Amino acid sequence: MQDKFIDKNMTALISDLQKLIRQPSVSAKNVGLEECARLVVCMMRKAGIKAETLRIGKNIPPAVYGEVRSKQNPAKTILFYNHYDVQPAEPLELWNDKPFSGNIRGNKIYGRGSADDKGELITRIKAAEAFLKTTGDVPCNIKFLVEGEEEIGSMHIEDYLQRYERKLSCDAVIWEFGYVDEKDRPIISLGMKGLLYVELSVQESVRDAHSSLAVLIENPAWRLVEALKTLRNKDGKILIKDWYKEVEDFTNEELRVIASEPFDEKSFKKEYGIKRFVGDKKGVKIRKALVGEPTCNIAGFTSGYEGLGAKTVLPSRALVKIDFRLVPKMSPLKQLGRLKQHLKERGFEDIQVRMIHGEAASRTKISNQFVKTVREAANEAFGKSIVSVSSAGTGPMYSFSKVLKVPCISIGSTYIFSRIHSPNEFARIDLLQKTTKCMCKIIKKFSNQ
Ligand SMILES: [Zn+2]
Repeated sequence: MQDKFIDKNMTALISDLQKLIRQPSVSAKNVGLEECARLVVCMMRKAGIKAETLRIGKNIPPAVYGEVRSKQNPAKTILFYNHYDVQPAEPLELWNDKPFSGNIRGNKIYGRGSADDKGELITRIKAAEAFLKTTGDVPCNIKFLVEGEEEIGSMHIEDYLQRYERKLSCDAVIWEFGYVDEKDRPIISLGMKGLLYVELSVQESVRDAHSSLAVLIENPAWRLVEALKTLRNKDGKILIKDWYKEVEDFTNEELRVIASEPFDEKSFKKEYGIKRFVGDKKGVKIRKALVGEPTCNIAGFTSGYEGLGAKTVLPSRALVKIDFRLVPKMSPLKQLGRLKQHLKERGFEDIQVRMIHGEAASRTKISNQFVKTVREAANEAFGKSIVSVSSAGTGPMYSFSKVLKVPCISIGSTYIFSRIHSPNEFARIDLLQKTTKCMCKIIKKFSNQ
């Protein structure tokens, strides 16, 4: 019944998604957040969902809360977590359409946020609507939490969860996004890696100097390069003492799932235009690394002159941004301490270390009943699915599992090469349609679980 309703109402879904895309909501620049939150509230109300904005402080973007209570009693509660903010659109010159156009070509809707995360949000609102408009009820209670700071690190999501713990109480969480691979198989991901994001900087002299003085004045960029070389070997192994101390081996069940996860090496390499993987990983090693290997990545390096042509300058300062992906049981603060200790022991006391963000990893156990429920729903809606022990990315999943103490699973409509965070981001209309149906099936099966 809901499937038919969804097929018939795809035009409305698309035009609502266009409306959301056309309302820029860039958290990094604090642009359009209040407006977008209001728009989400309106859209929920139009669908029959009770909606309001939640606030925890003056200069903190509001979160949107939505709720539909089931007339059945007692009923289980499912919570959909999403975000209405988006990444900045830059570099603007690489977009074929205007970044917030919502233009449609063929099967694709283009625009910043089309996939991440407005496309995902719309499938969930429309799933609730499909029940309300076909049966006048929902099989279980449905709650929505839509935040406005996900793309800048969700720094207040735990505060929201704690402040509104009772309101948000539930029995299971569907995560804000989910990937669909190149063979149209939805990836059901049971966890997320954690993150430690730091900035290392060195100030050598009080101002930039003529580079002829490089015989006398130490170059801070070289200092950082020397320090960076001690953090990681060329195969990606992190050389900081005790870095892997808390990392646990995969269980046999996890290993079985990892071994069965498909990964198309060829098309992946082609998509990124690369010839080899770090450490020459092949086969199951690639999958194990994506799911459970900590990383040390240089996200940015700034020093000296970076403009056109030549400028012979000796910079006074150098700065590098590094993100470390973490796996379950690794504490961001503990790892930060180990990094600082490492630099100190190697004589790099002059390097300033500033933590920008820390987030622990989270994983739901494969044996949890909710995993089976989601898998059955996905198989029905897509004809197939893949279970992944953990996504390679990071999100505040740990805050949810810590505060709400329920399983968290990621499943959604985002085509794996839909250029999220990049120019020409798009959402695929066929996947939005299938995912809306999939959400309905999850809701229904979950209520009988
Ligand atoms: Zn994102």
